[in-house]
Amino acid sequence: MTQLQQRLARYIEPTPVHAAGLEDYLRKYIVPDNVPAYSFEGHEALREPLLDESKELAILKASQLGVSTGLLGHCFFRCDVGSWDVQYFLPTKDVIERFSAGKVDRLINRNPHLKAMVRSRREVDSKSKDTIEIKSFRNNFLYIKGMDSQRSLLSDPADMIVFDEVDQLNQKHMTQAKDRIAHSRFGFRRYAGVGMMPGLGIDKIYAEKSDKRVRVFRCPACGKDDQVLADLFPDNARQDSDGNWYFGCVDCGAEFDRDNGARWVAQKESGGMPGYRISALDIAAISANYIMQLYQEAEGDMTAKATFRSTVLTIPDAGAGQPITDVVLKNCEGDYFMLPRSKYSFLGIDVGNVCHIYIRQAKPEDGKPQVIHIEKIVQTNLVQRVVDLDKRYNFQVAVIDRKPSLTTATQLADALGRHRVYLQEFKGSTFETGEYKPIAESRDIYQEVTMDRDIWLDGYTGMFANTDIEIPKKGEGEHGMLMEEFWQHHKALQKVLEYTSKGLKYASYRKNVENHFAFAGCFADAAHKIWFNKFCHFTGVGIESSPFRI
Ligand SMILES: [Zn+2]
Repeated sequence: MTQLQQRLARYIEPTPVHAAGLEDYLRKYIVPDNVPAYSFEGHEALREPLLDESKELAILKASQLGVSTGLLGHCFFRCDVGSWDVQYFLPTKDVIERFSAGKVDRLINRNPHLKAMVRSRREVDSKSKDTIEIKSFRNNFLYIKGMDSQRSLLSDPADMIVFDEVDQLNQKHMTQAKDRIAHSRFGFRRYAGVGMMPGLGIDKIYAEKSDKRVRVFRCPACGKDDQVLADLFPDNARQDSDGNWYFGCVDCGAEFDRDNGARWVAQKESGGMPGYRISALDIAAISANYIMQLYQEAEGDMTAKATFRSTVLTIPDAGAGQPITDVVLKNCEGDYFMLPRSKYSFLGIDVGNVCHIYIRQAKPEDGKPQVIHIEKIVQTNLVQRVVDLDKRYNFQVAVIDRKPSLTTATQLADALGRHRVYLQEFKGSTFETGEYKPIAESRDIYQEVTMDRDIWLDGYTGMFANTDIEIPKKGEGEHGMLMEEFWQHHKALQKVLEYTSKGLKYASYRKNVENHFAFAGCFADAAHKIWFNKFCHFTGVGIESSPFRI
């Protein structure tokens, strides 16, 4: 053997691992913050979710339970013992840098075996500035990636994918990453996160794709069964003679042993992957006093209450941040399905690889905005399709987003006639129409409409909240599936707190969620307004006036 061969041999020679299985591995090699070794003591509710070896699995969790540490330990185990390649997805590259230094590196450095074996590397793509953290376990890799970039999804192989903080991940990229694993030998997937968006994100995965397991307590004193602590809260919060809080039977008040007094029960009989809902109340190590303190602090503040429900009780709640809910949509339903034609109407298009078309009219009886047709179509067929639809619906004004494809937008304007089509962009703070030149100094002129994203969405969601718009009945079959998407996209209009560069908080509609029909709806709203301003406002002609072509 040459010197080089010897060095290589030493490098790839496996470090002996003495672990009987995942639990044993966690106990021997994972050292979390503030405790000498990984253990389920005080965290018994995490045992089954974290040790479950099903291919797919979802965890709807409260915050700060230690689930991420357990999932990372599982990743280490697969790379180290199973010779797998694993990808761990987080929302953004900033989170990656914090997570890597604050959690991953600390776990590695605390254990001599891991410290001796694992090599770290950080790759930054010169073009996109994407950061990928790569931890090599001999010949296998743990990639820690941000889901804000598309590029990072398309390269490396994976036998297991972990999606952490699902609600903050770019939902579209998540679907693409999921497809990547199709070729793996093992195809393990883990979805985990705090549910902040009712009916979306991790809540949707748990509710629709999993068997919906909850931790159920049976009273040791009176025998009352089926008690889920988070669902019975606050009626099951009791105080002992010293004023200390505890969680007990909702009937007789007997205190529960939160570590050992419960079992997992699936709420769906035959439902997809195992899905675990773990509230903070299920974790014995989180004191009832602490939970009650959080509860009392949130009293009287709607946003804080919603946060408490989401992050402690695992009852996803967007609070005042979600203006369009199931109830709101139900209230807006009219007594009709889609309409095959209209005398005159307004068109909004959200462009992507798949384009979302949204047509609305002023209801002949009372002028109330009424959604009459929606559909999806691939971008290459969009222009021809809209020209055909125009024959049935007689578009007065069409609004299409200028991004992501200026080519498609201008082709549409040329096909329908530039006088009817407005290229849309979110900028400035007021609603304005004007002229747009694709190339400066060019004689090619299009019409444009600009508005502030949050202000315009506020107006659009307000129409639903006030039942000032009618939408088709949901129905069943293919129509029902399309309308379900319409519902989902509108429920995804949720406000979250963002920070300016100066650290000031402001509420802004969530980005990177599937909301295409809602945006197409905003554009149709803009089209209607442009028409109204131009032809009705100053002449006194009502919106119910006879149709005419601009
Ligand atoms: Zn009882």
